[in-house]
Amino acid sequence: MVLSRDIELDLETALIPDQSTPTQQNCSPTQRAWIEINETALRQNVKAIKQSLSPQTSLMAVVKADAYGHGAVNVAQTVLEAGGEALAVATLQEGIELRQAQIQAPILILGAIHTVEEIQALVKWNLEPTLCSLQQASVFGETLQTLQTSLPVHLKLDTGMSRLGVLWKDVVPFVRCVQKFPQLEIKSIYSHLATADEKNDTFMEVQRERFESAIAQLNSIGFTPPCFHLANSAATLRDPNCHYDLVRVGLALYGLSPSPHLASVSPLQPVLEVKARITQIKELPAGAGVSYGHQFITEKPTPIAVIGIGYADGVPRNLSNHLEVLLHGKKVPQIGAITMDQLMLDISNCEQVQPGDIVTLIGKQGEHTITANDWAQKLGTISWEILCSFKHRLPRIFTT
Ligand SMILES: *Cc1c(COP(=O)(O)O)cnc(C)c1O
Repeated sequence: MVLSRDIELDLETALIPDQSTPTQQNCSPTQRAWIEINETALRQNVKAIKQSLSPQTSLMAVVKADAYGHGAVNVAQTVLEAGGEALAVATLQEGIELRQAQIQAPILILGAIHTVEEIQALVKWNLEPTLCSLQQASVFGETLQTLQTSLPVHLKLDTGMSRLGVLWKDVVPFVRCVQKFPQLEIKSIYSHLATADEKNDTFMEVQRERFESAIAQLNSIGFTPPCFHLANSAATLRDPNCHYDLVRVGLALYGLSPSPHLASVSPLQPVLEVKARITQIKELPAGAGVSYGHQFITEKPTPIAVIGIGYADGVPRNLSNHLEVLLHGKKVPQIGAITMDQLMLDISNCEQVQPGDIVTLIGKQGEHTITANDWAQKLGTISWEILCSFKHRLPRIFTT
């Protein structure tokens, strides 16, 4: 079988030593498989979210986990250009990656940081930590005293997520502890919601009332921090009462709704598409077993296509025989076990398929769209997990 031009090109470029970085741009679309990031969609999502906020509320883009698999540096730059005001990441290393790319916006580290070395790195890179306990706050204060420098900090309250933070009832002793150290500049007080994306949820309001009560306790001691924030994507879409001074938006930026009943609130567009090329086509006889374990046996003579993407790229093996992909604008079933680097399609309902043709695993072709949420539902998980499970072996290509 003659390989298409594109595949030949791919073989040539494959011989060049790989210098790719996780957020590599401009890689050739002759790859076997890749992720496309649509910058226009990302900008429009930022604008749509900004429009739903009052002018006093800023947008903090949550770009942890390499921007949910979209490439943190490029996403951060695009979001800031489109009107986002601040960034949040989970870890110190993620923050440093953004600073090394010359990103200047304020960056909040959502995760807990404890060691002296980490605190020195925060100072060096101008990153803003989360303080989540009195003990940790004291370590921060003492370390900064020794270093003779100060740092903006964000105080985390636990209002019912039962993850990081000081219980909302103890906000006053928490703030008093932090205030003992003039090196700690309290930039915001925040909390995180546990159930905002659940249908028929009533607990978000309980958390909001606890947050309000913390604000009232601070008022009663005459302390007014410059910023309060509570909302994730779901609460941002669901209830303006949760917006306060800033919203921390992740999933919605990437164009996915945190839950189906919030889908119509804002016109969000998925930003990421996952694509792969057909590497071989063949006609199988009836009774042929396909892939490891022969989980699929052809009932009749069947044309199949092999594509160059597998579970090592982030296509979950548990989707084997349940996955559908888009080819020539049609939905096509995947057959047999998904392997590490390749998977097979039954292309009986497509004509004139050629090696090198592009298959869309997540994204849009013709009138069909497949989203990360469709995969999540088949797997009993959530779209967040699907997005951040795509591996760096897939180059990220930015398109407009
Ligand atoms: C991840 C995260 C967010 C963003 O959540 P989305 O549901 O993706 O919008 C906001 N706040 C905190 C503390 C987080 O950990």
